[in-house]
Amino acid sequence: MQPAPNPRQEKGHEIASAQGQVFRVADGYYKVKSQSRSQYYDVNNTSIGWKCNCPDHKFRGTKCKHIWAIQISLGLREEVKKHVVLEPITITHCPTCGSQNIKRSGIRHNKSGDIQRFACKDCSKIFSFNIGFERMKHNPKAVTTAMQRGRRRRLKVFFFI
Ligand SMILES: [Zn+2]
Ligand SMILES: [Zn+2]
Repeated sequence: MQPAPNPRQEKGHEIASAQGQVFRVADGYYKVKSQSRSQYYDVNNTSIGWKCNCPDHKFRGTKCKHIWAIQISLGLREEVKKHVVLEPITITHCPTCGSQNIKRSGIRHNKSGDIQRFACKDCSKIFSFNIGFERMKHNPKAVTTAMQRGRRRRLKVFFFI
């Protein structure tokens, strides 16, 4: 096996792909969980570039795995936005009683997008689905299908922005 060309980048990719490792504090300010101890490092986008307060970055001046993780996460998010096509979800069953006897019951608009409402004619339950992508901006959510570097590949992306 060949050694990875850039171990920090590899590590950053691992961090970016795992859940609960990266948190957005503000625009350009993130916290990344330390991989070796139970603490978080501060990663900031400054006027002179990304800065992290981990020893690797502070003392060696390297682009550490935490900065890699942020940049990869941001890049992935853009990639996913570009390539993920949300297929319309076909609702065929009532989630409560399983009946196929359902009908559309109007669309509700809110700031997360349009929500299609359905009504079950058997149990009278009204249910709705929000399949808007915008909503994911604000809630960490896994998207399991994304295109990466032109190849179709399953990957998990946890949005944190
Ligand atoms: Zn760092
Ligand atoms: Zn029902």
